[in-house]
Amino acid sequence: MSIAQRIHELQASIPGNVTLVAVSKFHPVEALEEAYQAGQRAFGESRAQELMAKAKVLPKDIEWHFIGPLQSNKVKEIAPFIHLIHSVDSLKLLQEIEKQAEKNGRIIRVLLEIHVAKEETKHGFSVEECKSLVNALPVLPHVSICGIMGMASLTTDEQQIHGEFKQLPELYTFLRSSCFKGNKDFTILSMGMSHDYPIAIQEGSTMIRVGTYIFGEREY
Ligand SMILES: *Cc1c(COP(=O)(O)O)cnc(C)c1O
Repeated sequence: MSIAQRIHELQASIPGNVTLVAVSKFHPVEALEEAYQAGQRAFGESRAQELMAKAKVLPKDIEWHFIGPLQSNKVKEIAPFIHLIHSVDSLKLLQEIEKQAEKNGRIIRVLLEIHVAKEETKHGFSVEECKSLVNALPVLPHVSICGIMGMASLTTDEQQIHGEFKQLPELYTFLRSSCFKGNKDFTILSMGMSHDYPIAIQEGSTMIRVGTYIFGEREY
């Protein structure tokens, strides 16, 4: 199947309330153009430099999502236009985003990354760390916390994936009914990748981040 066919198939098969982010990291501009021609507008990248280079040459109505580990010193590059940062994993980073958003006279939308996988290498807050953070959040007028993001372990054990994902909607629902009660922006539960997005949707995902399934294997 071509990139365009994958996009059409995915868009047709996921529920209407689920947003597809096409994860285009490490793929050339031509691949993104094909997805764009197929109607795809949300693209996910994991490195600031690569995102900047692609944004420069691709249509301006693309929504750019930042999904990888983000260093504080890279925030200013993406701050003028980034649509959503999925990978906020420290208060320091939130404060830097606030600073750069203010400089650009805009509000930057972010998700808090939550660590639920068994793998040691994944970034993010634990559920408890996230609860303490939002309980004692400083005022950040130029940051809008829109939800949470998480990844399950890379495993073929579906029960394990279900078990890890379940913690995310639990936390999301808790936050929506406590700290973010009445907050109309807090609507995003970003979970699910190529190998586990159907499970993530079953568990209540509202945003999936799919790369390999659309674009093929990445060449690093
Ligand atoms: C690379 C990446 C994805 C996409 O992974 P695929 O397995 O290629 O679908 C999704 N989310 C994050 C955070 C990523 O880094």
